[in-house]
Amino acid sequence: MEKVAVKPEPMAERGGDAEHIKREVLGIAGRRKHHTRRASRLQSHAKDPEAHHRLYRFRFYPTEEQAEQLERTFGACRWVYNEGLALRSDAWERYRVHVGFAETCRALTGWKRAEGKEWLNDVSSVTLQQSLRHLDQAYQRFFKGRAKYPKREKKGRARDSATYSRRGFRWVEDPQQPGTGSITLAKQSQPLDIRWSRALPGGVVPVRLSVTRDRAGRYFVSTLVEERIAPLPAVFAPGTREPKAVGLDVGLASLVTLDDGTKFDHPRLLRRYAEKLARLQRELHRKVRGSRNRNKVRQKIARLYVLIGDVRRDMLDQLTTRLVRENQVLVVEDLSVANLTRAARGKGRRRKARLNETIFDAGWGELVRQLRYKCEWYGRQLVFVDRFFPSTRRCSACRALGPKMDVSVREWTCAACGALHDRDVNAAVNLRQEGLRLLAAA
Ligand SMILES: [Zn+2]
Repeated sequence: MEKVAVKPEPMAERGGDAEHIKREVLGIAGRRKHHTRRASRLQSHAKDPEAHHRLYRFRFYPTEEQAEQLERTFGACRWVYNEGLALRSDAWERYRVHVGFAETCRALTGWKRAEGKEWLNDVSSVTLQQSLRHLDQAYQRFFKGRAKYPKREKKGRARDSATYSRRGFRWVEDPQQPGTGSITLAKQSQPLDIRWSRALPGGVVPVRLSVTRDRAGRYFVSTLVEERIAPLPAVFAPGTREPKAVGLDVGLASLVTLDDGTKFDHPRLLRRYAEKLARLQRELHRKVRGSRNRNKVRQKIARLYVLIGDVRRDMLDQLTTRLVRENQVLVVEDLSVANLTRAARGKGRRRKARLNETIFDAGWGELVRQLRYKCEWYGRQLVFVDRFFPSTRRCSACRALGPKMDVSVREWTCAACGALHDRDVNAAVNLRQEGLRLLAAA
């Protein structure tokens, strides 16, 4: 008989022992018994079905003083995130104790009192707590199997950001120009110099702000507001009472192909950026590791990536708005981003392929993210078709399955019925049909 080595499952410490470890070893203060928190006003729980959270992003130009204060804030948020991560993983690795969000917040109070950590008090405590909340959200995604174990945030790797909940900023609406106004962040004396590229809905108070600095050194403030968005009137297929449906094939050759044959190409600008990026990458590999020149090239590359992201996001924004306006049912393939990028890992040989993928990557995740919320806002239906559905190989005319095709094959002829297919249009037609079938079955 085969012997099976049974590895003992690590048991979690609970109850009094866990409390003791937390208090004595990890330095997490106990819950205060007499909490002097003001009772919050009762809020109506009947949620307005047309109320949606919406994010508006504006560029701003900090004064030197504000830039310095933000630099400290970004650093402190990163430090607190990493410290919280260390605490939570240590607690589990060494003592088998679960540490949650509220406990990391109590530990934060201790860190701020520690010697040499006075600088934590120069930063709004609201942003530090939000940092711990982001960490907790990263853990939740990990527990649900939707993400890898949270990683330390490294300076210069992750985008600099700080989130301010309602207590962390002052908002004064401009009566002359409703929807614009002044925003003053906690621990700052002057309001931010914001370029109001558009107005927020008049009369609303931002629920939350996040301030970011991208790798090109630009500052943005994203304001989250609760806004009433009325659904659009339903669209029907011409001359029928059937909802108008569209199948969307997302790809590298064309950004999006519709089942009626319409193709949306990648912005020409991306092609130019791709060439520039390839040149910079070559330059980077010629420079000595750790040298100043190499660093300069790295910064140029970072800025270029930021521009690429902007171009892609803007064009996807226009495209998804149009698609959602014109259709009642939208069908896409349920690709997971993780699967798409895994194929492109590797060194040297794959570098060019990876580069192309980064540039021309249709941004499937971003596309779906935008479609998801716009469909919800405007009362449209988004249908996902399983990624194992053979949308490319199946003939949309006679439903016969063709052989597997290399990505380079753009056109093919069905061996069963002789129909000539454009690879992407055929896939989009299949997606539309399958989506409608799923919808009817549901
Ligand atoms: Zn056929």
